[in-house]
Amino acid sequence: MTAMYRGRFAPSPTGPLHAGSLVAALASWLDARAHGGVWLVRMEDVDTPRCVPGAGDTILRQLAACGLVSDEPVVWQTQRGPLYQRALDHLVAHDRAYPCACSRKDIEAARQAQGLVRERHHIAVYPGTCRPERGGLHGQPARAWRFAIDPAHSNVRWADRQLGPQTQDVATEVGDFVLKRADGLWAYQLAVVVDDAAQGITHVVRGEDLADNTARQILLQQALGLPTPAYRHTPLVLGDNGEKLSKQNGAQALDLSDPPTALMQAAQVLGLPTPARDTVTNQLAAWTKAWPA
Ligand code: GLU
Repeated sequence: MTAMYRGRFAPSPTGPLHAGSLVAALASWLDARAHGGVWLVRMEDVDTPRCVPGAGDTILRQLAACGLVSDEPVVWQTQRGPLYQRALDHLVAHDRAYPCACSRKDIEAARQAQGLVRERHHIAVYPGTCRPERGGLHGQPARAWRFAIDPAHSNVRWADRQLGPQTQDVATEVGDFVLKRADGLWAYQLAVVVDDAAQGITHVVRGEDLADNTARQILLQQALGLPTPAYRHTPLVLGDNGEKLSKQNGAQALDLSDPPTALMQAAQVLGLPTPARDTVTNQLAAWTKAWPA
């Protein structure tokens, strides 16, 4: 194995693996193997109120039943607070993060005063109320910490290995996003960027619903002096309501009585040939050969 490729699967343990999350797991594993690379599993359990006790271990057991086992010890984000704090300290020291006193209501009120309505992707673009040059906290107690976008460098372009050329102006489409939440928990954007770098991830392969986060993550990488991995966003499995299959719209936990069938369904979503039933080991070997690296 070469160290030129380090990939990962980074589930949030909010429930067991289902048909949709298996697609992302399989795609990231195949991409790593097709490149002769390393594949890691990272448990993104920072959003503790949404995590389900035991779900992380269940996911690891489900992955193992499908022949997908992390090449290095599994990392759990709840144990990495000091790393995230160091990154936030760095951003604060370089004027790239600031405390914010706004509640959701404050943000909506400020947006309405500016004549803005909720738009794309349901993101309420942060109106910048607490930016230091606009008077900071205005005497209010700090709630969250936000990333200070440099509007002169907020237009991000990247070449997605699956979706092709992508672009997003983070200043106008997202605004200064949260790094540490009002409830004291670390935000996904900061944790994922710090961990991808700390683990030396060179290639991110994940579901298409996450593509929208990539520009924010690239800006954070640049502000922290971290490398940007290659990104590839894989097709989603849709539920009966036409939305991304998720626990919220009734996705069933993966049936562990028959891993080859579960894998075959995931492979189909990825456009891989699904020949006659075989063992998990043989299936994975065949798809690794067929994977478009
Ligand atoms: N933990 C995120 C999720 O399960 C995925 C993060 C990522 O792959 O960047 O939605």
